[in-house]
Order: sequence, then structure tokens, then C-alpha cells
Amino acid sequence: MRRSFRTVAVLATAAAVAAVAVVPAAGEPEVGARAAAPPPKRPEAVGHGGAVASADEYATEIGLAVLRRGGNAVDAAVATAAALGVTEPYSNGIGGGGFLVHYEAATGEVHTVDGRETAPASAGEDLFLEDGQPIPFDEAVTSGLSVGVPGTPLTWQRVLDRWGSRDLAQLLRPAEILARRGFVVDENFHRQTAANQERFAAFPATRELFLPDGRPPEIGTVLRNPDLAETYRILGTHGVEAFYQGEIAEDIVSSVREPQVDPGADRVVRPGGMTTDDLAAHTAPDRPSTRLDYRGYEVYGMAPPGSGGTTVGEALNILETVDLAGMDESSYLHWLLESSRVAFADRNRWVGDPDFTDVPTGELLSDAFAADRACLISPDRALTSPVPAGDPRASTPCGTDGGQVEPGREGMSTTHLTTADRWGNVVSYTLTIEQTGGNGMVVPGRGFLLNNELTDFSFSPVTPGEPDPNLPGPRKRPRSSMAPTIVLHDGKPLLATGSPGGTTIITTVLGILTQRLDREASLLEAVAAPRASQRNTATTLAETTFVDLPAVDGLLDRGHRFDTTSGIGMASGVEFLPDGRLVAVAEPTRQGGGAAAVVWPSP
Ligand code: GLU
Repeated sequence: MRRSFRTVAVLATAAAVAAVAVVPAAGEPEVGARAAAPPPKRPEAVGHGGAVASADEYATEIGLAVLRRGGNAVDAAVATAAALGVTEPYSNGIGGGGFLVHYEAATGEVHTVDGRETAPASAGEDLFLEDGQPIPFDEAVTSGLSVGVPGTPLTWQRVLDRWGSRDLAQLLRPAEILARRGFVVDENFHRQTAANQERFAAFPATRELFLPDGRPPEIGTVLRNPDLAETYRILGTHGVEAFYQGEIAEDIVSSVREPQVDPGADRVVRPGGMTTDDLAAHTAPDRPSTRLDYRGYEVYGMAPPGSGGTTVGEALNILETVDLAGMDESSYLHWLLESSRVAFADRNRWVGDPDFTDVPTGELLSDAFAADRACLISPDRALTSPVPAGDPRASTPCGTDGGQVEPGREGMSTTHLTTADRWGNVVSYTLTIEQTGGNGMVVPGRGFLLNNELTDFSFSPVTPGEPDPNLPGPRKRPRSSMAPTIVLHDGKPLLATGSPGGTTIITTVLGILTQRLDREASLLEAVAAPRASQRNTATTLAETTFVDLPAVDGLLDRGHRFDTTSGIGMASGVEFLPDGRLVAVAEPTRQGGGAAAVVWPSP
């Protein structure tokens, strides 16, 4: 069979920043601490006492230092996230949001915190329409319209209040020092800046921070962010109320409502409608986690407005109807692609913000619905997409409700971190500002980029005449694909994982879980495995390494067709071994690789 594939450009995930000895000793609490040798950057670490895995070696080292000093997994997650806001500012930060899943060893409970951004009260279904027509997507991204009220600072405060053992000030301090002293620009950071150069240049505050001398900082030079350091100091001293009320809130609102655009920039930048009331009213609520039994494992994920829990869960339920472990590789991959194809049809039709739309979460995760949907899948032939959605509220084998809704255009940025501590607590946390570089606007004097999360809404009903649960609305959260996941076995943590990658997050997590739970891969092998992502589209997006697999011949024979890309996702995770050791795993190569570490033995 002839192998020819189209190549699709996909924006890169966040930088893993190069290590040199000018950055402060990670975790060092005092300004003026000695410069340190670069933290180690390993894709796997095995040992005891706690673990951290993230996309960046400084962030991992800062989280590890918190664990070493007796902090718990929640403390470490907040410190790691704050550091990622310094070194990976195009992927996450206090201007964005995220989902945090927490296993609490003392109770055996899994909690999920919804730190998703919300639309302002002024947003209606026509948020992105002009004269009844959707505005161009890239103009929507780089505007005030796309900015949701950030949820990340509130998420940190809420999880620390309930499960933390350190206060926010202590946990922000290492990241504050990192921001003040600077980090060294690596190839990935340089490339991401260059890709954004024209739009960053349009905003004086962004240009000043990320385009020193008017161009992307050279590889090997130090980039400092004293404004962010000061913002972290303020939040540490006064609490996150200082973000949601007062001068920082006013600065955010000014940036959104009156974007400061260079008069020479050839760019339409629409203002948004966020107010200080929107910031003051923001919440980061608990959601009941999604939970399903998969071959004796308990899989916990993020419920709506996340689509990760329901979509990974539905696909796993479909896969549970066949013997995945006993199949040849082509058959396994075929079922993997077909299960996500069908689950995405249902995701797109049914999942939105549960405060606004009646999402049939339980029904989407039922075995009866999985059986109805598995009925569509042939072992020998790929389905033709778009596959219509099923109706989880009315069981009909092989039935549909007729609706066909396409996936959205979520970005490919974002970051994921995983932490575990000596007591057995676990955090799986995915956080984002949506596109690489968010909406492109640094809040002047504050050192962080604003998100463009609201472009995760449908701009108009994606299939005219069909219901769309993901239209904008006042104080509504856009549907997300982020899928931080924790798997228990007999009530004890087995593994936690997650990834960036927009809608491909779901297929990446599904691939990792099945590789690890069904196909005898180690967690590292599962994270490193070549990937393909089928999201109910005619062709499947696949890494070039995937289409080179011998098993792909068996997929082509079944009618699968592929578009190729250089990389999908950048996962990390932690596994608990039966002998009590922990395995921390980070992406080994994609985007320059991430960093995994355990407390003992120290790296
Ligand atoms: N905005 C996306 C979501 O919330 C994430 C973007 C990404 O992963 O790059 O699902």
C-alpha cells in the first residue's frame, strides 16, 4: 500500500527552558541566594519520598524542594505551577486557568477543582459575531473579546486552604526569585517567541517583556521578568484577593477593555467587556469527578465543563467491550482510533458548561451507552467521519440522534504537571492560557499574558440547526479538553497523568492509559509512544513516527487515512510501584523534553 501523508503544521507546546548556572537555587527561599548548577533534566526517576514531573526542569526542581522540606503534593503542585508561569509563560500563568485533580490519601477521596476561565457577564451567544457572521478566528484570539476571567490564582488558594500545609507566600517565593533573576532562553522559547513576533510587537507591554531590542531574545541569553516577580510578591503578601480586586484587577480590566496597541501596528484589536465585577465574582468550584471502572481500575477525571473525563471515559468503556490486551498491534490501534472517533461525536454534541446546559455526564459514561456505540465499530473497516452523535439518554444499539457537530479549534499549548508526596497524596494538574502566547497581551506592569480561552467556545452553532452546548454566555465556561487523570487500583493510587495539546489531549491520555493498562508498556514507554489522534474527522492526525510504524499498514488496509505532524502533546505522570517506590515520568523528546524527579535518591 502506498504511504502518502499530508503534513499539517501544529504550533509547538511550551518551551522547556535550557539550564545554565545563572538561575537561583531552585526552591531557595531568600532573594540573594547563590546561583546554582542547572537542575537535572531526566525523563524518568524512580525512588521514594515524593515525585514531581513537569515540562520544565526548574519548575520540577522547585516542586521537589517543597517536598524535600516536608510540603505535600498540593504544596508542590502550586510551587511548580508558579515556576512554570515564569519559564513557560506562553503556555500557562496567572492570566489563565486549569483543572486540578487531587487524591487525598487520608480519606481515599478524589477531588477536582474547576479553575476554568469564565466569560464576562456581558457575553452573549453573539460574543464572536459581527453582522451575524463569525469574526476571523485569529482576530478573535488576539483581542479583548477572547479573555476569560482567570482561574489559576483562585485555584491555588482554594487547594491550599483545604489540603495545603504551606501558605501561598512560601510557595510563590521560589518562582518570584526565578522571575527576578531570570532564566536562560532556549531554542524552543526562542522559536515560540519568533512565531509570535508580529503580534507581540503590536502590544508595547508584550514587546518590552518578550522582544527585548525589538526581536526574540537570543538563545542562551537571560530573560528576566521583574514585574511578574512583583506580582507574585503581592499575591504572597496580600492573598489572591489582590488579583481579583484592587489595582491588579483594574489593570486586567483596562487591558481587556482598552487594549494598548502600537499605533503603527496593522491589526484590528477588538476590546472585550470584562469588568472588575466579573473578576470579583469569579469562583473556582469543586466538580464531582468523573469515575469509571475499567478492567478493575478506577479512572478519575475532570467532569464538564471539561470534556476530558467523559470522552476518555466513554472511549475506555467502548474499548472494555473487546480484548485489547490480546490483539495484534494493528487491531489495537484500530480500536483506539475508532473508540475516540465515536466518543468525540458525542463529546461535541453533549458537553458544555453544566451550569448552563444539561450535560448527561452519567449517561455518557454508562456501560449501556458504550455498548450502543461500540456496536457501530467494525473490526475490519474504519468508520466514515463525521460520525453522528448518539443519544445517551435513550438506549438504542447502533443508534444516533442525528446530530453532527465538529470539534472546536483549541490551541496546542498548555502544560501538565503531576506531583505525589510521601503520604500518598497525588495531584494531576493541567493549566493553560489557550494558544501559545494566549491573547498576546501582557498586562502592563504585571508581567503575565492574558488568556484567549473564550475562543474555545463555538462562535456560532457549528452545525446550523443542531443544538450546540458550547455557545458563549454570561459567566459561562467554555468547554475544555484538558484531561488530568488519576487511576486507582483497589482504592490506592496507581498512576496519574495528563498532557497539553488542545483536543488531542483526550486521545493522548487515552493512548497512555491503554498502553500502560492493556499493552504492557511502562509509563515512560506509554508517554513516549508515537501518537495518532482521531477526533471524528475524515483523516487522523498522526506523528510522523506513528505512520512509520509497521502496524500502520493494517490501519491503511482498514481505510484509515492520516495527516502528519511532528509532535502531539507533551505528557507527564507518576506511577506507584507495588514495592512502594514511585516512578516520575516526563516527556523524553517532544518540545525538548520535560523533567521528572523523586525526592530520594536525589538526582
Ligand atoms: N484551551 C484548551 C482546553 O482548555 C487547551 C489548549 C491546549 O491544550 O493547548 O482544552
